[in-house]
Amino acid sequence: MIGTHALASLLTALALAAPHPAAGEPTATASAATARPLAGMVVGIDPGHNGGNFSDPSFINAPVWNGREEEACDTTGTETDGGYTEALFNFNVASYLRALLIREGAKVVMTRRTNEGVGPCIDRRAQILDKARADVAIDIHADGGPAGGRGVAILTPVAGGPNDHVIASSKRFGRILLKRFTTVTGIPISNYDGSGGFAPRDNLAGLNLTTVPKVLIECVNMRNAADAARLVKPSFQRLAAKSMAEAITGFLLSR
Ligand SMILES: [Zn+2]
Repeated sequence: MIGTHALASLLTALALAAPHPAAGEPTATASAATARPLAGMVVGIDPGHNGGNFSDPSFINAPVWNGREEEACDTTGTETDGGYTEALFNFNVASYLRALLIREGAKVVMTRRTNEGVGPCIDRRAQILDKARADVAIDIHADGGPAGGRGVAILTPVAGGPNDHVIASSKRFGRILLKRFTTVTGIPISNYDGSGGFAPRDNLAGLNLTTVPKVLIECVNMRNAADAARLVKPSFQRLAAKSMAEAITGFLLSR
């Protein structure tokens, strides 16, 4: 047992020994955990295509192995009827997302850092994020669908070898992402791609070759007038990125 006087002395000694903040001020540890919830985590972002792809057809059309079959290294991507390219939309959203995630403490790995280059090929993009051992990854795209179709679709991996261990986790991330994206942006679930907003795909290198939880989001249909009017605005691109950051954080903190 310990006497009252000795206990008081001990408490005083402890109080003097341990540096502590002024009353009402959060401790450094608590505030860091609150402000940087993704500290120590790695997030992969693949902004689909690249702004220079149209300039080098021989590189872009060269066949690569997508995990099940050969397909072209990449494509130019689609664009709106007004000529706003998918590559630029994808890159802008990715850049806003990267900034948000870094602010939350994550290490962010991008498959491309500008919108002026060519490539990398789709197999290489998957390898970059696999090698980074990303805790979660997102392929950002926008679709070129029928003019009457609109909305967002989440493409999910189908087990085929390399991705076997991340099928369930990718689907869970996809469910969180669809909810956040539709809620934050107001974009409806696709009325032409997949079912209920989800489309399992076994013909995409990014999903076949992934060893980290990953989905591909077709944010909008660039060939639809209503979707196109929104997607070209930086305010919309920021909202899209915000919804993705919320989904990524929600996924990582609920594992
Ligand atoms: Zn695309």
